[in-house]
Amino acid sequence: MSLGIVHYNDPVLRKKGEKITVFDDSLASFAAQMVIAMHAAHGIGLAAQQVGRPIQLCVVDLRGTEAEFDWKIDGARTPLELFMPMVVANPKLTVARKTPTITSEEGCLSFPEIRGDVERAGAVAAKFQDQAGLPHTLECTGLFARCMLHEIDHLNGILFIDRMEKEARGAVDEAVKALAKRTRDGRTAAPT
Ligand SMILES: [Zn+2]
Repeated sequence: MSLGIVHYNDPVLRKKGEKITVFDDSLASFAAQMVIAMHAAHGIGLAAQQVGRPIQLCVVDLRGTEAEFDWKIDGARTPLELFMPMVVANPKLTVARKTPTITSEEGCLSFPEIRGDVERAGAVAAKFQDQAGLPHTLECTGLFARCMLHEIDHLNGILFIDRMEKEARGAVDEAVKALAKRTRDGRTAAPT
């Protein structure tokens, strides 16, 4: 079974994810399927909403990027290879006061071929659980921080187009409307 990635404006993308309370084999297997779907789509992050399930779960894998960023996981700069792909359940993000923001072009697997500038905090801290329910802490900057902010927005039903500045949002408006129409037409096609 492979998971399909839903596109805007599938209503599930607007649902806030339910907190995960049971960390069993079926959750671990779902997370593993999400990693496969993310890799197949050449993404660096994927939220459960994007595969049709509104729960507080996302996966992240930044090993293939050339961007520079820094991180500490559980207090140490563990090599990415040792903890990615990363499964993030029930994340709680904090952005320190006066954290400088960075504006950078962003895309989303639920918005094929649509990209736009989004201003986000340049550094974040997070607490989360892995697929076994074990707690972790993360501090990260740059693209890693951007990716966490983008994915955790998904878990709350917030999309990157909501974060775009007016001008950037305007520039993609037609493409966004066309995508919504394609998605709606696809969904309403009578099953045979
Ligand atoms: Zn996204």
